[in-house]
Amino acid sequence: MNRTFIIVKPDGVRRGLVGEVLNRFEQRGIVIVAAQLRTIETNTAKMHYAEHAEKPFFAGLVEFITSGPSLLAVLEGPQDTWKIVRTMIGATNPAESAPGTIRGDLAVEMGENIIHGSDSAESAQREIALFFPNQQ
Ligand code: UDP
Ligand code: MG
Repeated sequence: MNRTFIIVKPDGVRRGLVGEVLNRFEQRGIVIVAAQLRTIETNTAKMHYAEHAEKPFFAGLVEFITSGPSLLAVLEGPQDTWKIVRTMIGATNPAESAPGTIRGDLAVEMGENIIHGSDSAESAQREIALFFPNQQ
C-alpha cells in the first residue's frame, strides 16, 4: 500500500472543515491510517517547510501553520496516493485551483488555503517520518 501525508491547516480547523476535507478522501476510497489534532511546534514547522526557508513568505507561513490546532493525517491508497491527493487538493494559486478541488471549492487565499499534501513519494516519506514516526 502507498501512503501520503496531509495537514488540515489551522484555517481549516477554525472554519470547521476537518470533516468536509476527510470525507472527500474517504469517499474517494482513500483510507485514513493515522490522524491527530495537534498545534505544530515552530521548529517542526521550520523542518517541514525547509524547502521554502529562503522565500519571502516563509516567516508568515511558519507563524500561520503554528497559530492553532491542525489535523495531521496519514492517508493510504493502492498507488500514487500522494498524486491523487494533490490533484484533489488543487493548485496553490487560488486563481488556478479548479472547482471540484478542495482549494477550488473552499479557499480564495494563497496563504490560508486549508490543506497541505506531500508533493512526491519522497516528501511523503520524509513528512510521515517527521510527524508520525511510527507510521512509515
Ligand atoms: N504560500 C504563500 N505564498 C506563496 C506561496 C506559498 O503563502 O507565494 C504558502 C501556501 O500556504 C502554500 C505553502 O506556502 O500552501 C507552501 O507552498 P508550496 O509552494 O509548497 O504550495 P503547496 O505545496 O502547499 O501547494
Ligand atoms: Mg508544497
